[in-house]
Amino acid sequence: TTEIYYDDDADVSTLEDDTVAVLGYGSQGHAHALNLDDSGVDVVVGLREDSSSRSAAEADGLEVTTPAEAVAQATYVSVLVPDTVQPAVYENAIAPNLEAGDTLQFAHGLNIHYNQITPPEDVDVTMIAPKSPGHLVRRNYENDEGTPGLLAVYQDTTGDAHERALAYGKAIGCTRAGVVETTFREETETDLFGEQAVLCGGIASLIKTGYETLVDAGYSPEMAYFECMNEMKLIVDLMYEGGLGAMWDSVSDTAEYGGLTRGDDVVDEAVRENMEEVLEEVQNGEFTREWVLENQAGRPSYNQLREAEKSHEIEEVGERLRELFAWEEAEAETEDSEEED
Ligand code: NDP
Ligand code: MG
Ligand code: MG
Repeated sequence: TTEIYYDDDADVSTLEDDTVAVLGYGSQGHAHALNLDDSGVDVVVGLREDSSSRSAAEADGLEVTTPAEAVAQATYVSVLVPDTVQPAVYENAIAPNLEAGDTLQFAHGLNIHYNQITPPEDVDVTMIAPKSPGHLVRRNYENDEGTPGLLAVYQDTTGDAHERALAYGKAIGCTRAGVVETTFREETETDLFGEQAVLCGGIASLIKTGYETLVDAGYSPEMAYFECMNEMKLIVDLMYEGGLGAMWDSVSDTAEYGGLTRGDDVVDEAVRENMEEVLEEVQNGEFTREWVLENQAGRPSYNQLREAEKSHEIEEVGERLRELFAWEEAEAETEDSEEED
């Protein structure tokens, strides 16, 4: 069974002699740095000279220096710049300043698992990955609530890698909710598969294909938008709260019978085989090779795909309809301004 760790399993004072370098002050970086600081851990933020995040970190009362200088000062390095820039930041700023016994920590396993970063043998390599965007990691901490997280140890040279990672997980509030033990391989491969096959890729294609099927059959784009896109949130909210059971319980018997009999006709054996292929390209590194090359080439296909997605008819219809339903927008704006407080 899977190990789950809570506050009682961890001790923040494990890090009392450490300085943690938080590299990056974006979604995760700002949350980790502020939570660590509030937990009494010594923090220095590493940002490039012309960084647009510098003023925010300074305004939040944190010490800011360059990534290289931060790593040199630190004994614990938390790499929270975007995954695509991590290899360059590692080469230029981290590697030259790492010392034996330091900890190198990530919030996602991609660069270690696919050998885009190869750390020396004399440092610990760990992962604490909150399962939520950074602004919630911060907000939950401030509300004395937790954010579930993952912990993995890739390399343990000090013998303390696990205990130290748990202490970090506690300091950012993850052990309040629960920290699940995993491996770099499992975290990376399930994350990539999930976002490609189900969450981002799968669901966007399901919505677009459903929409197109209705519109091609002569139904109005507005109706197609509501049925295939807008109602998705209501259904997902139910699943989030109580699993598939809560969803089936809440919809009509007609919807339940129709869904139970037709769902597997839509997502059939062929789709399962497609998913297996997607998983294989994740496992054998083909996807990551493609993505690394795409970045090296300046993202030509990525930019093209982004543009095509933006101009899909469902986006134009949606924009128009969301404007008509002004109450939704007003609600969203209230939530946003609350977040900034
Ligand atoms: P962000 O995109 O929010 O990070 C942006 C930060 O990185 C900014 O401070 C930016 O500063 C800095 N930065 C960007 N490029 C460089 C560079 N070349 N050199 C130095 N600093 C740079 O990252 P996330 O927080 O989204 O992701 C960080 C890690 O956390 C990733 O490994 C990600 O997979 C993981 N993760 C993210 C989650 C999320 O919800 N976002 C959830 C769980 C894990 P500047 O102004 O200089 O550009
Ligand atoms: Mg150092
Ligand atoms: Mg992901």
